[in-house]
Amino acid sequence: MTGIVYKSTGSWYTVKTPSGETYDCRIKGKFRLKGIKSTNPIAVGDEVDFEVETLDNVTTGVIHHIHYRKNYIVRKSVNLSKQTHIIASNIDQVFLLITINNPPTLTSFIDRFLVTAEAYAIKTVLLFNKIDVYDEETILEVRYLASIYRAIGYECIGISAETGKNVDKVKALMLGKVSMFAGHSGVGKSTLVNAIEPTLDLKTKAISSQHMQGQHTTTFAEMFDLSFDARIIDTPGIKGFGVVDMEKVEIGDYFPEFFALKQDCKFNNCLHVEEPKCAVKAALDRDEIAFSRYRSYLQILEGEDEHYRTDIWDK
Ligand code: GDP
Ligand code: ZN
Repeated sequence: MTGIVYKSTGSWYTVKTPSGETYDCRIKGKFRLKGIKSTNPIAVGDEVDFEVETLDNVTTGVIHHIHYRKNYIVRKSVNLSKQTHIIASNIDQVFLLITINNPPTLTSFIDRFLVTAEAYAIKTVLLFNKIDVYDEETILEVRYLASIYRAIGYECIGISAETGKNVDKVKALMLGKVSMFAGHSGVGKSTLVNAIEPTLDLKTKAISSQHMQGQHTTTFAEMFDLSFDARIIDTPGIKGFGVVDMEKVEIGDYFPEFFALKQDCKFNNCLHVEEPKCAVKAALDRDEIAFSRYRSYLQILEGEDEHYRTDIWDK
């Protein structure tokens, strides 16, 4: 049998088959994926093959194979520095909720998020929330930001989770897909999920209402089927979108507008800073690259030593 992992609690996995049956599954023996050193061999979102076993009238499954993951997000475990914990896999898209104020979302945060999502090969859609309360000036700021991100290929939608404005557009994008919601605490993630599916009571809600008190809380990601053809992965209490170790020369590859110009730079290892005949700096001088994007790039570039670390899910 084949199914998708919806939930993982310690050594048991809830696996759902295409016909909608769920099985509690264990893993057969030692089970390690090549190339990934993680504390958990299987994560929510994984597609797995399993055998059904019935013992004393109790039916369970034994997982013996995991399918190729198109992507996955990780968290470095605190104790074992070399090991990672896979939070979830096979994510079709992340909706990044952005508010101009209450709370403010800085472009540096948006850009770090996008770099990480690009590195993980996860599509991001930007949702500018709370447009119902913005004055004219703030709406202009939303339009300006949206124009920057649209120009480089990110879909942007102005929404109000509170009034329901454009929530139908978000639902349309979710059809047939596995989605996640991200953004600072207070941007409206639970309000939006509630507007999308009122009967779903996500744990994110419980945690944000306790004011994110538990760094120590053990939390598990969980996948939910919605009443329309869509699935979401809820990641309660997860602060980091993960950690990406990247070389300095790689960072520019995750800025799509830089990447598109890279072959025109004189040096193929150009960092787009002081190098002569740099196509990115030339585009910046012609105002074809947003200054805020370039500034974010420099901030990331000047980050911790050779590698850059992100911790951006929710601060
Ligand atoms: P979360 O921490 O991201 O889950 O944010 P919440 O969904 O808990 O929302 C934080 C606060 O913002 C709550 O008081 C919501 O009622 C409010 N809020 C969320 N979305 C909107 C919106 O579209 N418009 C307005 N005016 N308030 C909103
Ligand atoms: Zn360059």
